[in-house]
Amino acid sequence: MEPFVYEALPARVVFGHGTVGQLPDEVARLGCARTLLVATPQQAQEAEHFAAMLGGRCVGTFVQATMHTPVEVTARAMQVVAERKVDGVVAVGGGSTTGLSKAIALRSDLPQIIVPTTYAGSEMTPILGETADGQKKTQRSLKVLPEVVIYDVDLTLTLPKGLSGTSGLNAIAHAVEGLYARDTNPIISLMAEEGIGALSRALPTIAVDPLDQTARSDALYGAFLCGAVLGAAGMALHHKLCHILGGSFDLPHAETHAIILPHALAYNAPAIPRPIARMERVLGTANAPLRLYELGREVEAPRALKDIGMPAAGIGVAADLAMANPYWNPAPLQRKEIERLIERAWEGLPPG
Ligand code: NAD
Repeated sequence: MEPFVYEALPARVVFGHGTVGQLPDEVARLGCARTLLVATPQQAQEAEHFAAMLGGRCVGTFVQATMHTPVEVTARAMQVVAERKVDGVVAVGGGSTTGLSKAIALRSDLPQIIVPTTYAGSEMTPILGETADGQKKTQRSLKVLPEVVIYDVDLTLTLPKGLSGTSGLNAIAHAVEGLYARDTNPIISLMAEEGIGALSRALPTIAVDPLDQTARSDALYGAFLCGAVLGAAGMALHHKLCHILGGSFDLPHAETHAIILPHALAYNAPAIPRPIARMERVLGTANAPLRLYELGREVEAPRALKDIGMPAAGIGVAADLAMANPYWNPAPLQRKEIERLIERAWEGLPPG
């Protein structure tokens, strides 16, 4: 065994069917008496339902969570936090809702209970991305790491087929980069491999039958593991490219990850023989990038950046940006090769 450093992140995880029923107990366990329930406008009904479930321990709902966590929205939420003397945040939703909860925690140090309803994995990380003046900046702070995460499989049954597939591939991307991260270790690798396996088996079933309970349970378990990997390991080319593409061309988050993943992995593959061997074992394939590209087709995820709103003129711009601030990556970063990668992803071609 090679030497390694493993730092466990302090979070309590409750997983199962119907687990959201334990929300009042978890709130009481944290000693919160005046929680604020946050959600997106699309999940306002659920927010009201869970607020009612908390009764006197909830002082209101704030259902304005928005993709990429704009600071103006957080400012409005902070006003409510101050006015109602909030002492804890409960977030029900995907990565956008979790982002708002984390932004509140960063400014207030309030405890958070997250009830994730997608596979984005943000609930397991001390990472927060916020947008101010059109620029998204990411930071790491233990202040934003949620205290409690309640995974309830039943709440994921309503996640539409399309978003289930892209969100699941977004989660797989965390684990793929965790397997070859500079600071990876045997524990992260175990979680990554298990996460990739659970999601890659479950997602094609969900694409056919979104109400399949076993597949939904496996997918959420996989998402938990992949989120934990994202929280514990540094990321490389794939996440960097998705960040650039999302920020520069306002592309949807999960879809961008789903499209880029096979291409970024193909780029790095020659430099990471052992992680590739692990992925191929768990995916049951002799070509991991191609298998992930096919998985995208099976879950009906978009395959081409041109189909999700990226202009052709953006290819060169994105390649320049990917080279602008140096960062660690297992394969050397070469401008021409990166441009070719983005070009293939823009066209929707199989990974090169
Ligand atoms: P999202 O949270 O924006 O959700 C997309 C839409 O689906 C929303 O309208 C939401 O209300 C709806 N939805 C969510 N769950 C549903 C369900 N079960 N049934 C029906 N509708 C549902 O999408 P996302 O992909 O989960 O999150 C993306 C955001 O998360 C991005 O801003 C991204 O940067 C961030 N993120 C952050 C981290 C981190 O560690 N900081 C990790 C992953 C993603």
